[in-house]
Amino acid sequence: MIMAVRLVLLTFAICCLIVTVGFTVVPTELLRLGQLDGQLTVDNSDIEAASVDFGMLGKGEPLAVMHPGSSDDIAQLVKAANEGGFAVSARGHGHSINGQGLIKKGTKGVVIDMGSKKGNGAPPAPIVCEKEMYVDVWGGELWIHVLKASLEYGLAPMSWTDYLYLSVGGTLSNAGISGQAFHHGPQISNVHELDVVSGKGELLTCSEESNSELFHAVLGGLGQFGIITRARIALEPAPHRVRWIRVLYSNFAEFTKDQEYLISMEGKERLDYVEGFVIVDEGLINNWRSSFFSPSNPVKISSLNNNKGDGGVLYCLELTKNYHQHHQDSLDQEIEAVLKKLDFIPASVFTTDLPYVDFLDRVHKAELKLRSKGLWEVPHPWLNLFVPKSRILDFDKGVFKGILGNKTSGPILIYPMNKHKWDQRNSVVTPEEDVFYLVAFLRSALDEEALEYLNDQNRRILAFCNDAKINAKQYLPHYTTQQEWMDHFGDKWDQFYSRKMQFDPRRVLATGQRIFEFHP
Ligand code: FAD
Repeated sequence: MIMAVRLVLLTFAICCLIVTVGFTVVPTELLRLGQLDGQLTVDNSDIEAASVDFGMLGKGEPLAVMHPGSSDDIAQLVKAANEGGFAVSARGHGHSINGQGLIKKGTKGVVIDMGSKKGNGAPPAPIVCEKEMYVDVWGGELWIHVLKASLEYGLAPMSWTDYLYLSVGGTLSNAGISGQAFHHGPQISNVHELDVVSGKGELLTCSEESNSELFHAVLGGLGQFGIITRARIALEPAPHRVRWIRVLYSNFAEFTKDQEYLISMEGKERLDYVEGFVIVDEGLINNWRSSFFSPSNPVKISSLNNNKGDGGVLYCLELTKNYHQHHQDSLDQEIEAVLKKLDFIPASVFTTDLPYVDFLDRVHKAELKLRSKGLWEVPHPWLNLFVPKSRILDFDKGVFKGILGNKTSGPILIYPMNKHKWDQRNSVVTPEEDVFYLVAFLRSALDEEALEYLNDQNRRILAFCNDAKINAKQYLPHYTTQQEWMDHFGDKWDQFYSRKMQFDPRRVLATGQRIFEFHP
């Protein structure tokens, strides 16, 4: 009799799942899920897509993939994970390098594909509040769509990443930085409010005023405390156009002196974007983000080779001034006044002028170019570091002019930011000093040998920083032991740990970060 009742119940549960996921075999751990607005699938192509990321350095292996239709779907899944002993990873757009958004092989878990629009119900589209200048967006929304929705009202977010095909939840779980961060702070400094499904499966609204511990935990929290389903992002009136200028340096000290001067400027003179990069040679794979040096520019980089410093390295400072069409008149004088104060190589000024949206979406063009040559979907052993200002000259000597040699295999970005624009209550860690640099080695490995070589170079760079006590912090960090994570967080570790115990005590979330061991 008992067996018969059990059989009826099980048949009922399976029927419910057939309704929600179609005719697929669903792992028993997921049988307790009820009706979903979206879809749960074990389809091979979905599993395969959720098993890799942009880094292509390793593979995950989820039991199933959820295409959520609502926050409730996610809350239901996370609750089931707590009860059924499986892990859950939100996948933004899969643009991590080291499997941070994957389910580690050997761990039972489900990937939530935050960006997908499959299933019965789609997550909500962006809603702009013109009067209060903010936009409410789904956590899996791509920044390019946030931009487009905001521009319909003549508004735009203030702080960006260089590339817009990243998800809101993914960048807010790290920081989200670009050349605007020196003034506006990272993207996590430009959020008013979040809806978060905590690691316990509770759907909570949080902000500085309400549930503030969760709010600050999640911002820069590497997905450890909750899944962002809605973010309220601050907007400003969108500029129409951008004047974009690049100038070159052979002297690193002058280059960084000028960058630091530019990020200290306030008032009308202040620029809108300050970045920079190291130029090693002119090959496509090293300079795919530099389409700017086009044949229409009068100066070719190769013609400046005589100016290369003793280390054989050139540095490019990149800056912009945004403008509204009716303010165009004074623009030339304002830029002239700024350039006069800088010590770049004379005659190395490259200027272009373009619509604001084209500037923000510039890396996508480079992506299309690489894709067309089969150079996008290759392994990416990237390394991103925050280096304190006081040690950047040592870093240049030891790394750019030392370890790198002439084999870098990708762009190297370098630009400074002001720490006071980073809210210390958020989870992300930065160096101690008031000014620190992002140094990003964005490399592509075209074969096994190159991958080995670049991985080794990364290890040597990290070892150099360690030995020289540079106190650099990894951005988009990757470690494999908890001791390394404790060292990374330093003074913030105790808080990070207690937040984990408060919001995700069973450690079901974002196991791909390898911070906490998941025990079913
Ligand atoms: P994923 O890689 O899918 O996820 C990242 C982490 O966040 C994972 O742990 C995941 O579980 C978690 N997560 C994802 N969604 C959510 C959510 N809704 N709630 C909670 N946790 C979530 N970064 C910059 O700051 N500036 C740049 O200019 C920049 N440029 C880039 C250019 C390229 C070409 C690439 C590939 C990456 C770039 N990045 C940049 C890095 C990017 O910010 C990270 O990859 C980040 O993880 C966002 O990617 P994603 O949205 O695909 O998130």
